[in-house]
Amino acid sequence: GRTGASELIADALAAVHEAFRDLDEGTVATYIPELATADRSLFGVALAGVTGSIYTAGDADSPFTIQSLSKPFVFALALMDRGLAEVLEHVGAEPSGEGFNSIRLDPATGRPPNPMVNAGAIVTTSLVRGDSEEERFARILDLLGAFAGRPLDVDGRVYVSESETGDRNRAIAYLMHSAGSLTADVEATLDTYFRQCSVLVTARDLAVMSATLANGGVNPVTGERVVDEVVTEWVLAVMATSGMYDYAGEWLLRAGLPAKSGVLGGLVSVGVGQFGLGLFSPPLDARGNSVRSVAAAQEISRQFDLHLMHRP
Ligand code: GLN
Repeated sequence: GRTGASELIADALAAVHEAFRDLDEGTVATYIPELATADRSLFGVALAGVTGSIYTAGDADSPFTIQSLSKPFVFALALMDRGLAEVLEHVGAEPSGEGFNSIRLDPATGRPPNPMVNAGAIVTTSLVRGDSEEERFARILDLLGAFAGRPLDVDGRVYVSESETGDRNRAIAYLMHSAGSLTADVEATLDTYFRQCSVLVTARDLAVMSATLANGGVNPVTGERVVDEVVTEWVLAVMATSGMYDYAGEWLLRAGLPAKSGVLGGLVSVGVGQFGLGLFSPPLDARGNSVRSVAAAQEISRQFDLHLMHRP
């Protein structure tokens, strides 16, 4: 029955949290000074079903900045605003096999490899419609809030820290402008990108956001249609191939689920038609993915036979 299933999920999350809370490996990101202050012991796990039920374990209500986890959702907004064909004129859909801050562009087209690395995400941010940069960012913040099912805010200190130390992102953006893939104003686009990365969320929010993708674009808690169903298919496909940077292939092999990580240790993973997972733990492995979040998500996938290639 329903209660039985709920207890099973709640127990599994508690067990996975217990199993990996002492996995004290990896390092907290320091290249943005404000990120270096993150508490490495934090570990939150949350799961939201497409029915709207939410389960949590550990620090699921600790706020942290969304960072690269904003990328799939802003990609969704760019797709809603421009359609697939126009978006693909500016950014590719190929896994890069490189780190999140790779500077490589396609030599023939000038496009960044995909919307899940910084270069591609800066381009998708530039494709969001708005008459002014304020309006463009307001639409992004509203969209992230609609996915989460509550209004979200920016961490002003992280935003300033990102902007002050964002030379590599600036270099990538100017390179894309000269290559023709980034056609909007460079500094205005970067400012919006830095703000978008500095939006505060919790593991619980991430679970609802990813459950909205799992649910074909309808937020299962609020009932609001946030994006079109076909857009969720496009976003999940790119998450599956590119969401975990240069670990994307091995991630899909082991977890078998579309996912996206962020440099502050957040992770979203999606069981299409079933649930969204949101995890948070700051220490990162060598590829910039959260050690505890990766281990916990892979364990949950194993326990519930969630691998996409699992024979139904
Ligand atoms: N704001 C970060 C950056 O642009 C996001 C990177 C990430 O989460 N991997 O460097």
